[in-house]
Amino acid sequence: MRAQVFHGPGDLRYEELPVPTPGPGEVLVRVEAALTCGTDVKVLRRGHPLMIPTVPTVFGHELAGTVAAVGPGVRTVREGDRVAVANSAPCEACRYCRAGRQNLCDDLLFVNGAYGEYMLVPPRVVLRNLVPLAPRLAAPRAAFAEPLACALHAVEAAAVGPEERVVVFGHGPLGLLLGLLARARGARVVLVGRAGPRLTVARGLGFETCLDVTGIDDPVAALREATGGVGAHHVIDATGRPEVWEQAVAAAAKGGTVVFFGGCAPGTSIRLDTRRVHYEELRLLGVFHHTPALICRALDLLASGGVDPMPLVTHQMDLKDVPEALALMARGEALKVLIHP
Ligand SMILES: [Zn+2]
Ligand SMILES: [Zn+2]
Repeated sequence: MRAQVFHGPGDLRYEELPVPTPGPGEVLVRVEAALTCGTDVKVLRRGHPLMIPTVPTVFGHELAGTVAAVGPGVRTVREGDRVAVANSAPCEACRYCRAGRQNLCDDLLFVNGAYGEYMLVPPRVVLRNLVPLAPRLAAPRAAFAEPLACALHAVEAAAVGPEERVVVFGHGPLGLLLGLLARARGARVVLVGRAGPRLTVARGLGFETCLDVTGIDDPVAALREATGGVGAHHVIDATGRPEVWEQAVAAAAKGGTVVFFGGCAPGTSIRLDTRRVHYEELRLLGVFHHTPALICRALDLLASGGVDPMPLVTHQMDLKDVPEALALMARGEALKVLIHP
């Protein structure tokens, strides 16, 4: 089979590999749709100790496909089943898993392999995060399950409700998914980004406001203006930049929620207005990753049409063109590239 294999930072190779044979508890999935992700760009640049514990490994982590073969002892799926595969599986034994916070599992197992014709899914993922698809849910749409589950985690943690004002910082794929989810819950969404192809797509998604902060010195003042002077009920950062985390706190209304969705570079910190956090009861929430339950709820939303992520697919390419797809992502010219293995 052909695959894009990650050998280390900056070293992605298009190779011919043997098609794996599933062992006990394993499942072989024929990949039908894979999506590029901003994380791929970061990981290709500098590696990732959590998501890529060993090299070489087939790259990519957002996919859907069809079960091609099952190993001995597999009872949850059969050959021919259409499935989504999440990029991790929790242990279900540690104290976080037992408390239903599997995203914080002390022993979270990450898997990769979306950019190959086949992916061998290990037993733990087969048991906890290999999910059969609803009959009419197409593979390209189902491949959004993983990023959508992450975004759903943020929107549920904030408890976004109807008619509430939600500000999302970030015009990347996750910023847009967060905006779509908030809007699906009836919220009035202000999306904050910078002019370019991505903000153009955002403008087509029907958010109440898309604020272009190119050349604006004080985005918070502009946001206060856009929210009638009171700030937002919920502010979500999807940029992972410390200065934007500070703006997110400043843009929240009294009693508001700030969700730190985008991870910042290691070692960074922010300044907090302690008076506002205390007297105005700001709720500051960190969110990370997803759980098996969130993956299922994300797939339900995709199947029911509650959220339509397909406008985020700006390009479609073959497996051999993954490097070009990731270069488009790095330059901010693509939101999601759909890869056909
Ligand atoms: Zn991703
Ligand atoms: Zn665990």
